[in-house]
Amino acid sequence: MKIIVPISVFLAIFSLLLPFFAAKTPLPSNSPAPTVEVTTAAAVAEPTPSPTADYNLISSFDSAVSLTLQTNGEIITIKMSDYLVGVVAAEMPANFYDEALKAQAVAVRTFTYYSASGASANSVHPDADVCDNPVHCKAWLSDEALREKWGDNYDVYIAKIKSAVVATDGLCAVYEDKPILAVFHAASGGFTEDSANVWGEALPYLRSVQSPESPASVPDFVTEPAFSLSEFKRLALEVYPDMDLSGASETWFGEESRSPNGRLLSVALGGVKLSGTQLRNLFGLRSANAVWTISVSEIRFTVTGYGHGVGMSQFGANEFARNGADFKSILQYYYKGVEIEVISQAL
Ligand SMILES: [Zn+2]
Repeated sequence: MKIIVPISVFLAIFSLLLPFFAAKTPLPSNSPAPTVEVTTAAAVAEPTPSPTADYNLISSFDSAVSLTLQTNGEIITIKMSDYLVGVVAAEMPANFYDEALKAQAVAVRTFTYYSASGASANSVHPDADVCDNPVHCKAWLSDEALREKWGDNYDVYIAKIKSAVVATDGLCAVYEDKPILAVFHAASGGFTEDSANVWGEALPYLRSVQSPESPASVPDFVTEPAFSLSEFKRLALEVYPDMDLSGASETWFGEESRSPNGRLLSVALGGVKLSGTQLRNLFGLRSANAVWTISVSEIRFTVTGYGHGVGMSQFGANEFARNGADFKSILQYYYKGVEIEVISQAL
């Protein structure tokens, strides 16, 4: 229990977070959150226009909250306001539109409070509230790392990110008065996905919606990784030695099921039933929104979008912002039925 909260903010915060990788794993109400892995927009960024930032806002809620962060093998105490800047900067390109950055700041703040309110112990880093591993918690970059990452753009970009955090000071997406599991991903491929189809538990605010990103706005919106038959077999058998891939390659894939959006839910491969996420992880696909073709020499996937597809699409948020939407409407579009409230009112 490392978060230190002043009485004035009236927060009860507990320790948190377990890794959450397996597809179809039940999602208990207080469970730690699945992460966006490394499939955030920051990994596939392209420059976009940069509207102005407001430099005169003051953070009062976020700067009054401290948490402990494990980074580079040590644990540091950090203000929520500074933590959020480092996460937003790591998870979303700073050249995204301001309203998208604000939506991202609220999503990360919400995710952090959601995780912090979980009752389960954090077995990965029991002495810290969060870590900077995006596979487990959220990516986070120090000011020093951001100076290196941004170079000559540092002054402009840090002002944009700080402005997004301060302009949303204390705001979270809440459902039934509690911070939500505010997951996000880089690009949905046209529709986001019901949480039930990816993690097995239906959360009322994580429902499939249409998302406006397109090949024109997302680098590598569609990718086509290909594997020789021998490489495919080697990768599969390395993880699933019980698979039977001895016959002709045309017989390797069996029955499959898909969501209404086309995302792979499950497929039989060599007699072993895999979830879409397991197939994605096995071959390093950018999403489970994938189809494949089999030839005499290779298996070629066609993959649309990037990430698990649940919750807010970052590139979709940027498209909404480009068209004039504000951060609240973006969040309320991707997280159904939520209110955007200051966290002290939410807990
Ligand atoms: Zn962690």
